[in-house]
Amino acid sequence: MQMTELILKKRRGLALSPDEIRWMIEQYTANIIPDYQMSAMLMAICFAGMTREETLCMTLAMRDSGVVMNLAGVDGVRVDKHSTGGVGDKISLILCPMLAECGVKMPMLSGRGLGHTGGTIDKLESFSGFRCEWTDEEVTRLTNRVGLAIASQSDSICPADKKLYALRDVTGTVDCIALIVSSIMSKKLATDADALVLDVKTGRGAFMKTEEDALALAKELTEVGRLAGKRVTALVTDMNQPLGRTVGNALEVRETLAVLKGRNEPDLVELCLALGSELLLACHVCNTEQEARARLLDTLTSGAALERFRLFIQAQGGDAEAVDDESRLPTAPVRREVRSTQDGYVVALDALEIGNLVVRLGGGRAKKDSPVDLSVGLELGKKIGEPVRAGQTLAVIHARTQAEAEAAEKTYLSCCRIGPEPPAPQPLVRTVIRSL
Ligand code: URA
Repeated sequence: MQMTELILKKRRGLALSPDEIRWMIEQYTANIIPDYQMSAMLMAICFAGMTREETLCMTLAMRDSGVVMNLAGVDGVRVDKHSTGGVGDKISLILCPMLAECGVKMPMLSGRGLGHTGGTIDKLESFSGFRCEWTDEEVTRLTNRVGLAIASQSDSICPADKKLYALRDVTGTVDCIALIVSSIMSKKLATDADALVLDVKTGRGAFMKTEEDALALAKELTEVGRLAGKRVTALVTDMNQPLGRTVGNALEVRETLAVLKGRNEPDLVELCLALGSELLLACHVCNTEQEARARLLDTLTSGAALERFRLFIQAQGGDAEAVDDESRLPTAPVRREVRSTQDGYVVALDALEIGNLVVRLGGGRAKKDSPVDLSVGLELGKKIGEPVRAGQTLAVIHARTQAEAEAAEKTYLSCCRIGPEPPAPQPLVRTVIRSL
């Protein structure tokens, strides 16, 4: 086979055969097909698209470019959750111990923050000593003992995705549905859970800016999952404003602890209940949504999810004393309040710009391997729809220096729009799509 012929075929809008796709992924992973040819192919895919069969084939070929995790030794039902990436998204930290308390097992592979979006592994590293590199045997042992384990993805899982994702990042080919689906689903199939729930974000802070695109992505993800034999549910959820009231690694851990200790942060709790109940229904742990929600909520009000979280941090080598003594978490030296200059209501809080602001404070990565400062970020005093008076606090910036805090304050004021009337409330969960 010739890569140039495959590029021309795709450029003409024709479908690649399963053999052609498998060959292309194998040769690219083995560094035989060069980046410049794969870049041309990725761009052709962006313009011509892929049929569902092609996307499925690409997904399976990418999964098979590396190893599939062997978690057969985990007792009971295994579930998995994935978010397409958001700002202030600490849902996994709250939801995993809640689900473990409900009796399902959650051995998860999570990522680090990239671009304006945060990552679960960075957040967890706010607990000093926390380890996220584990073998399959260790993940199995941890999951059987604690009910959950969160590990970083090793180089042996989906190496084709590692190379392709880096190439897409620099060739303007990230936001293509076939490429996103094969990237996400190849990794999710490699962890081989019994049921999977996907949180597909839509809005300013998401890859998919419009609800229409997010819905198309959610449908393709669930269908490719179904064709690969997985029970997949996708929820399209709002990412126009950050989730919860914190953005930044250690600040998000503090908020996680507050929710696990019983604070009702409505969007965080609602999203945990919505995603979690789908998993409990998919694997028949509960029979009705009402029962599933009640069981999940009980893990928060009883304090059981908090205890499970403490056990999890301890089991993975983290400083579990920080669960009670939050001064042990990273703390930024400078705090600066951003105050409103007018009365009114918050009508917009630009999640994308707020995510970028936290990256500039040092809390995220502009490049894949840049270090992150876990202490910096911001607390949101007011969210969309809330009333505000002139002089009241809109946000608190946590920064390394006064100069960085001042720059962040200016940016925040341009991200936060105040109007005379409250905006019409927007639902957090827009659509639910179930594959089986
Ligand atoms: N997350 C992924 O893992 N891959 C994508 O392409 C987009 C989001």
